[in-house]
Amino acid sequence: MAVYNPKSLKAEEFINDEEILATLEYAEKNKNNAELIDEILEKARPKKNGNGVSCAGLTHREASVLLACEIPEKIQKIYEIAEEIKLAFYGNRIVIFAPLYLSNYCVNGCVYCPYHMKNKHIARKKLTQEEVKAEVIALQDMGHKRLAIEAGEDPKNNPIEYILECIKTIYSVHHKNGDIRRVNVNIAATTVENYRKLKEAGIGTYILFQETYHKQSYLQLHPTGPKHDYDYHTEAMDRAMEGGIDDVGLGVLFGLEMYKYEFAGLIMHAEHLEAVHGVGPHTISVPRVKRADDIDPDAFDNSISDEIFEKITACIRLAVPYTGMIISTRETEEVRTKLLRLGVSQVSGGSRTSVGGYTQEERPHDTEQFDVSDQRTLDEVVAWLMENGHIPSFCTACYREGRTGDRFMSLCKNGQIINCCHPNALMTLTEYLVDYASERTKEIGFRMIDDEIEKVTKDKVKQLAKQNIEDIKNSNRRDFRF
Ligand code: SAM
Repeated sequence: MAVYNPKSLKAEEFINDEEILATLEYAEKNKNNAELIDEILEKARPKKNGNGVSCAGLTHREASVLLACEIPEKIQKIYEIAEEIKLAFYGNRIVIFAPLYLSNYCVNGCVYCPYHMKNKHIARKKLTQEEVKAEVIALQDMGHKRLAIEAGEDPKNNPIEYILECIKTIYSVHHKNGDIRRVNVNIAATTVENYRKLKEAGIGTYILFQETYHKQSYLQLHPTGPKHDYDYHTEAMDRAMEGGIDDVGLGVLFGLEMYKYEFAGLIMHAEHLEAVHGVGPHTISVPRVKRADDIDPDAFDNSISDEIFEKITACIRLAVPYTGMIISTRETEEVRTKLLRLGVSQVSGGSRTSVGGYTQEERPHDTEQFDVSDQRTLDEVVAWLMENGHIPSFCTACYREGRTGDRFMSLCKNGQIINCCHPNALMTLTEYLVDYASERTKEIGFRMIDDEIEKVTKDKVKQLAKQNIEDIKNSNRRDFRF
């Protein structure tokens, strides 16, 4: 039987079933142990440290106790600390991105995904380079600077060469004042060699959702195709890191398996990356299974309530304080509003989840990967964020300045976010307001920028940022960054 070892490169040893079951038992036994819960909460709380703030994070066992906890006042404390951590490391900035679907050809049999090979109802489509350009122009005209490209797995229709060509095309399009400055990639698990090619193509984060950490369920949910190989899929992030990609994004598709099992697996995966590569995941996504063509989410009997979803998000925030958290338009405005306070740092906006969706007048349903719950335009999302006290950020500076992997983490830990990410967010928000926003959004935005710029603590940075903001307003000069 496999023995738990976070430093192992074997899936069954670093995501170890026996250890997860023991964790769940420990959490269940201690879910009302107020003394232990207080100790864990105290450990999770941000602490002053020289100039900055630091956070210890939690082990998968500690975090699982919090997730199991049933004492209302303690749960309230979890939420309060999640908010504290969020403000300490990410401030009130929320990074904005959009997904771009390149191809829905897929040879896998994932039972929850409409792109599964046997689904004959949907039209199969793969963007040509001309179509990629048109989609990118439409995205730039909305104001997007950061994309996550998505594709099914199909070595014939979507080989790595196709993905690389699309990335090149995306970076090459400069329409009016627009450009895409960071392309994150969400494609199936691949080889070290292909990860190296993606790194060389200048990608930001490599994102791959585990879907479920429960091996037996995984095998049943992915009955056919290359994705059936649980070990190959689970070990993908190690290959990505070996290929030179040091920003990787984890995720679980909540609703497929028992959430407590998934949660423990997810935190163990983060611990494994830290133990082996010295850097944890750059982001964690928290998607939930949605209705889609040929897919009924009720067919999965592990769906989770909004309340539990919020608790999971907050517990992830406490366990891995330096990891960004992403929430997509799978969730409604109401759920997104709550989760933003509990630790989410990135949201998608104005998304279309179909191949070629951005160049079509109406939101197309026939090739959508899942139902979009938040159907507002990007302008509406930007205004809503600001009305809720968040600064919408289109910043892509870290990765372009080489601050990836642990270099980004050290910026976080040294308390320099306020002199770097904060002015960067305000300068990119100015670009958005000047180039793309409605009058109403402009009004809210410029007021927010005037207030927020005063929070920059280094006077030199503040003056320079103010000057850059004026330049953006009065000229076509763009892309200032610290
Ligand atoms: N094909 C790639 C792979 O297999 O990892 C990644 C791209 S896929 C377009 C992105 C993600 O969408 C999947 O990893 C899955 O978690 C999610 N997804 C699939 N079907 C979904 C559904 N019905 N509702 C919500 N999310 C879904």
